[in-house]
Amino acid sequence: MKLLEERIRKDGIVKEGNVLKVDSFLNHQMDTDLFNEMGKEFKRLFAEKPINKILTIEASGIGIACIVAQHFHVPVVFAKKSQSINIDGDVYATKIQSFTHKKVYDVIVSKKYIGKEDHILLIDDFLANGCALEGLIDLVQSAGATVEGIGIAVEKGFQEGGKRIREKGIQLESLAIVDAMDSQTGEITFR
Ligand code: 5GP
Repeated sequence: MKLLEERIRKDGIVKEGNVLKVDSFLNHQMDTDLFNEMGKEFKRLFAEKPINKILTIEASGIGIACIVAQHFHVPVVFAKKSQSINIDGDVYATKIQSFTHKKVYDVIVSKKYIGKEDHILLIDDFLANGCALEGLIDLVQSAGATVEGIGIAVEKGFQEGGKRIREKGIQLESLAIVDAMDSQTGEITFR
C-alpha cells in the first residue's frame, strides 16, 4: 500500500536492533485517516471471507483494529496481557514472547467473546518473528474458532514471521513489507 510505505519513509525511524519506530502516526500518536485507508484495503483483500469478528492484542493493535472493524461491521476483541495468577477457567490463555520488550507474557481472552461459531480476522501493527500472531492463532484454535485471515500494517520481511505464518496456509496480507532497513543511514526499502 503506497500511502503507508510513503508515510513510513517520511516519518519512520530506524532504531538499533531491527526496530522501526512509527510512533508519530501508528504506535503512539495515531493517524486515523490513514487507519481508515488501511481498513478499506483490508476489506478489499478479505472481501470473500465470512469474517464476523476481529481479534487483536493490546496495546498497539487496538486502534488499528477498531477502525478496520468499521469496514467489516463486526466487533473487535483484544487479547489481554495478564498476570498468570489471574488465569482461571473462564479464559483461553497462551504465552507470547514479546519482540520489543524481550519478555514472555501470558495472554488471555474471555471464553465469552470467542467461540466455535466465530470466523476471525487477526489484525496487528507489526509482524516480526511471528510470536504475537502464533499466540493469537493458538487462542482462536483453543476456542474452536476459524482464522479466516491476518491483516498486518507493517511486516519486517527480513525476519522469519511472515514465512512461518504463510507456511500454515493462512491468508496473510501485510500493507507494507520492509525488506531492509539501516539504522545508520535511516534508509528503508520495501518489497
Ligand atoms: P513478533 O511477535 O512478530 O516478533 O512481533 C510482533 C509484535 O512486536 C507486534 O505486536 C509489535 O507490537 C512488536 N514489534 C515487532 N517489531 C516491531 C518494530 O520494529 N517496531 C515496533 N514499533 N513494534 C514492533
